[in-house]
Amino acid sequence: MLRSAPKRHSVPSWKEFLSQSIETAEDLKQWLGSDIPRIKDTIRRFPMRINPYYLGLITAQDDPIYRQCVPDPRELEDMQGSVDPLAEERYSPLPGLTHRYPDRVMFLVSNQCAVYCRFCNRKRKVGRQGFVTKQTIKEGLSYIKAHKEVRDVLLSGGDPLLLETSELENILRSLRKIPHVEIIRIGTRVPCTLPQRVTQRLASVIAKFHPVYINTHFNHPREITSEAAKACTTLADAGIPLGCQTVLLRGVNDNTETMRQLMQRLLTIRVRPYYLFQCDQARGTAHFWTHPQKGLEIIASLVGHTSGLCVPHYCIDLPGGGGKVPLLPQYIQGVKEKHLVIKNYEGKLCNYPIYC
Ligand SMILES: *Cc1c(COP(=O)(O)O)cnc(C)c1O
Ligand code: SF4
Repeated sequence: MLRSAPKRHSVPSWKEFLSQSIETAEDLKQWLGSDIPRIKDTIRRFPMRINPYYLGLITAQDDPIYRQCVPDPRELEDMQGSVDPLAEERYSPLPGLTHRYPDRVMFLVSNQCAVYCRFCNRKRKVGRQGFVTKQTIKEGLSYIKAHKEVRDVLLSGGDPLLLETSELENILRSLRKIPHVEIIRIGTRVPCTLPQRVTQRLASVIAKFHPVYINTHFNHPREITSEAAKACTTLADAGIPLGCQTVLLRGVNDNTETMRQLMQRLLTIRVRPYYLFQCDQARGTAHFWTHPQKGLEIIASLVGHTSGLCVPHYCIDLPGGGGKVPLLPQYIQGVKEKHLVIKNYEGKLCNYPIYC
């Protein structure tokens, strides 16, 4: 059975946590006490990193935390998923920058994450050298500067908060010098997977470049710990609005009860649910996929049953670069000449008269 993470006396820094991550088949075997079949091939194909904080959230083999981070030989068997499910390359004018929507870009500034999520849609890239370099960052900044229509820049990766604070500061400063960039967003899983990274200093540095929004990524109520709460408080107190982009994952959070708890607990740590994503069909992730009906069922179980603040937009990012599209349960049941027939959250049919 699972051994507990090594005991420590003083609180380690985030870099110490990272340096003690499980990254090799040997590390994993030592912790798990047994071998996983084809583990070496799996992590050669898709890198593994489980830092001791996130590892410590696992309470049993195959629990919802374990499934998100421990490699599974099924990753090698998936032949349905595609290598670049969102055709990000097609919409990339430069390596590391995707310009898919008219007024905003996604700018990759880090190739590292605190944990390599097994369901990641960029699992072909994360943890590998070369897809983000000083050069790609420099060229990305020039692109944004030259494209006046870009009013919103989403920093992503990898995880931008795994950069050194000074490196992140340099990027934020360069972006803020560009007059047409109104909004800066950071997509980061760090508040969930390595909350120790969120120091007072980091929050103060980010706050110098407001308006900065952070979208984080929690998938299970058990990820909402006192450490995660502290990280989110630190960011929120620095005036950074926090959103959450959850991924719907089979065997992790694909039921209404888990999802309701997650969304409600996010609000208690001042994180507003933003998106619930259908799992992208990236090669190696098929064992996490759910039927879209499941997502609709989850949304229907939230709307009206709990606060509207708890309800994220359920989106599918269409394969081949179609972009994100929101899906909603079918509330309109009939369109008559003088009224609509609308089903309410309790399933009751109501008439909505049309006078105009
Ligand atoms: C998701 C995404 C964005 C941001 O989209 P919002 O709906 O504004 O959150 C921007 N660019 C790319 C390429 C994206 O995938
Ligand atoms: S933190 Fe995000 S980018 Fe990094 S592995 Fe997880 S899902 Fe992928």
